[in-house]
Amino acid sequence: MLALSVEDIRTDVNLADKNAVIQALAQWLEQEGHVASGYQAGMLAREAKIATYLGQGIAIPHGTQECRHLIKKTGIKVLHLPQGVEWGGGEIAYLVLCIAARSDEHLDILKQLATTLSQGDLPTRIKAITQPQQILQLLQNTPALTPTPTITSELLRVEHIQTQLTLNSLLALTESAMTLMPCTVAEQARLKQTPSIHIGQGWWLSQNPADDGHTKAALVTPYTNSELMTQQPPVRGLLMLVIADLSHKVLLDQLLVWLKTEQGAELAAITQAHRLLAALQNGPPVNTSVSERVEQAAIVRNTHGIHARPGAILVQVAKQYAADVRVRNQDGDGQWVSAKSLMKMISLGTKSGHQLLFSAAGKDADLAVAALVNAVEQGLGETLPPLNGDIHADIEQQASPANEYDVTSSVAASLSAAASGSSNAPAAPASLTVPLQSPLAANTELTGVSAAGGIAIGPIFVDAPPQFNYLKQADDVSVERAALAAAISLARSDLAATQAQSNDEQGRNMLAMHRELLADSSLSFGVHKLINEGLSAAAAWWSETDTAATRQAANTDALLAERAADIRDVGRRVMAILCQSPVITPPDHPYIWVAQDIGPSQLVNLDPQRVLGIVTVSGGAFSHSAILASALGIPALAAVNETVMSLRSGTDAILNGDQGSLRINPDPQTLEQAQQQHQQTQQDAEQAWALRRLPAITEDQHSIEVGANLSGVNDASRVVMSGSDGVGLLRTEFVFMSQHSAPNLATQTALYRRLFDDLEGRPLLVRTLDVGGDKPLPYWPVAKEDNPFLGVRGIRLCMQRPELLATQIRALLTAANDRPVRIMFPMITDISEWRWAKRLVNEIQDEIKATQVELGIMIEVPAAALNAAVFAKEVDFFSIGTNDLTQYTLAIDRGNGEVAHLADALHPSVLQLIKMTVDAAHAQGKWVGVCGELAADTQALPVLLGLGIDKLSVSLKRVALIKEQVRRANFGACQQLAARALLAEDAPSVRRLLEKSV
Ligand code: PEP
Ligand code: MG
Repeated sequence: MLALSVEDIRTDVNLADKNAVIQALAQWLEQEGHVASGYQAGMLAREAKIATYLGQGIAIPHGTQECRHLIKKTGIKVLHLPQGVEWGGGEIAYLVLCIAARSDEHLDILKQLATTLSQGDLPTRIKAITQPQQILQLLQNTPALTPTPTITSELLRVEHIQTQLTLNSLLALTESAMTLMPCTVAEQARLKQTPSIHIGQGWWLSQNPADDGHTKAALVTPYTNSELMTQQPPVRGLLMLVIADLSHKVLLDQLLVWLKTEQGAELAAITQAHRLLAALQNGPPVNTSVSERVEQAAIVRNTHGIHARPGAILVQVAKQYAADVRVRNQDGDGQWVSAKSLMKMISLGTKSGHQLLFSAAGKDADLAVAALVNAVEQGLGETLPPLNGDIHADIEQQASPANEYDVTSSVAASLSAAASGSSNAPAAPASLTVPLQSPLAANTELTGVSAAGGIAIGPIFVDAPPQFNYLKQADDVSVERAALAAAISLARSDLAATQAQSNDEQGRNMLAMHRELLADSSLSFGVHKLINEGLSAAAAWWSETDTAATRQAANTDALLAERAADIRDVGRRVMAILCQSPVITPPDHPYIWVAQDIGPSQLVNLDPQRVLGIVTVSGGAFSHSAILASALGIPALAAVNETVMSLRSGTDAILNGDQGSLRINPDPQTLEQAQQQHQQTQQDAEQAWALRRLPAITEDQHSIEVGANLSGVNDASRVVMSGSDGVGLLRTEFVFMSQHSAPNLATQTALYRRLFDDLEGRPLLVRTLDVGGDKPLPYWPVAKEDNPFLGVRGIRLCMQRPELLATQIRALLTAANDRPVRIMFPMITDISEWRWAKRLVNEIQDEIKATQVELGIMIEVPAAALNAAVFAKEVDFFSIGTNDLTQYTLAIDRGNGEVAHLADALHPSVLQLIKMTVDAAHAQGKWVGVCGELAADTQALPVLLGLGIDKLSVSLKRVALIKEQVRRANFGACQQLAARALLAEDAPSVRRLLEKSV
């Protein structure tokens, strides 16, 4: 075993920087024959790879694996640097321990260090040291027996004993506690001799060191306590500890929280053991008689609610205060959670518009609550959507080239990654001559979710998931704990270093959030439990982070679910340290990065000169990786089939981030087309954006209205800026999905009112709730169906719950208040459904004296299109949902990736149904819109115009482009083209026809 002596310690050393410290330590080890020359280089190489800052002002530099042969005999040298030396990532080291260990003799020292690290305010204590002996004491110290010792919850035995306690009560409690703990005879003897100390509110603590290397704990409260209450101090409960190692502080900390909030009596009054344990774990209830709790609410206005990054900022604010700070989402499930835990904060599922209630107790409670409320109001590091009256300033800001909705800049950014070689872009390889190396055929197209737009052309680099080799079981719990603590600490300091080097603010925030995740006790709680059960640190960490990530991924909120990637990212980071895994290095030429999952922190370090595009098997359009890729102007594709991982690195590919496709080994013709398409897209988008406010009128004066599709109210402020003529489809089920329970009349009215305000008089076309199918509402359960798309969906579900539709209509008409509103019903199949819905609206109109509203139906079911002539007599308009119309006409489940390639809305049968609809509507003087994805398909536009469509509704980003395309079109020519398309035999024939006509 490696023992540290005063000869190995030098105090009050003053050295200029980290390199000088490493040099001094290496020379010292060399002089004393511990290492051969060259070890210093190994130490520097280790620092270059990963900073060895441990935490609390302590660093542990050591050589790399490769230079282990230079160690002649194990040794340790310690430098005390009261002035401090920057050790990377802004961390200052005051105590530097250099360990040269031939095998694992140093683990005891690490174990001691882990114990030392758990002590409070080490940097101050280290700086004040003057003698080597003091350092020895500091490093060899076991935690002092203070009122805040640490215990492990899994060792805790809880009992509420049935006993008439007398003044001898403490002894009775002690006896009872001891029966719960498997103590050795010697431990029991010591426990009996050691007097318990009163830690407040009638709670007592008794603790002793363990003999057998196992920590044990028991918590005992009496059933009958009237007599005890008269005692001074009273006896309400006893926590008895036999301590062997550093354990979690969680449970005892929680007991202290109860005591701090003066609820010791309430805790003792809990009469069942499991409830008592649960109460300790959950913390005291907030709304009790405790007068000094400070509470204040704040409304969250962040567009995506409190996801990980704003959550991390809130947690950082909370941690600045000593007070016990709790928070609950008033619009959520009402659970109180600690405001100092990021995992808990994220679990609140806080959406935009939700109200958070902060509650704090302790000496700086009022300051803590004020700071948290202020932080929420300031946006938690994000730009908040404008409040009413703020609109113009915000629009100007959003219209700036840096904004994500600035099509010009986003297209320019996309171009930077493409083959044409702008100043910012890596040039694509001059030729694509790499022979076929993958199991996929040449020119194979893999599809996925478009995560960031643009085209990338180049060889792929397949970044296979890291293989971590580790032993599953371990013998020594404390060694594993120390190893884990050190790995987490190193991971955190590495993150800090990366954070300090990053120029990207979003990236820095993300790294800060990852550091916060690593510090989160709710993650390490489970890991320690597994370690106690005999797992190695690596096995426990890997299992727990996987469980946490899986749990997070199961969140019904897609945005929150995507935070799973962050948990996996920090999980891998620590694993790599624990397992000393080799790093898979990407090629030194530009490449398209293909991976199972790409963690945000990997993207922060990404060199845009080398990474042409990103393809991942997992992830989604809103993952952090997607956000970052987009910000970096790198085209990205997510949710691609696993097959992509079996491709060989070096295979050439075209990544089309707009279409969501990856073409493998493209032939020269496909390649050329992609390059041309890219250049053309860029020019078109730039021109369209500049002219976005011009009306959409064809060159032969046929006018079309182009609206925007919205999936919630938060994007409404961008509708005007996009140049759109209003909202052509508000998918209100997403408004509902952003709530934890069905929003009531007042909430809905406020939401819709905000939307109308944002539109500045432009029309709003609202689709009533389209729940069911692939969009179930968690709080509105429907029976499981074999074919949900053919089941209780859309209007069918509303007819089962008319009160919900009535509330929605009432809210809409109230919010509209004379502003132009159009309402349509989804999934209408039969005339009776339409009549039922229309009657309901008319009744509410009469009831609230609402003004005129245009009422229509969606044409999504072939039956409605075929029967359009009947509907047209009664409706004000039709809006064709081509997504569903294609699904139902072609019998292709729109959610089934296996058949996705067969679904093309330009199939002549779908076009026939569109034509029938238009003809029927026009015969009655009614208008027809298209709001499915086909409306945004530039290739399809001439056909839709030619078929007589009056209005189009597309995503915000496509509005300018579609308007510009309309202006370039000739209506007469479109009519001829449409007539020919209707005669085509299948969808590819229609597409070929359209390609030829360009
Ligand atoms: C459609 O079906 O085309 C449509 C616009 O509705 P959704 O995609 O929401 O089903
Ligand atoms: Mg639909």
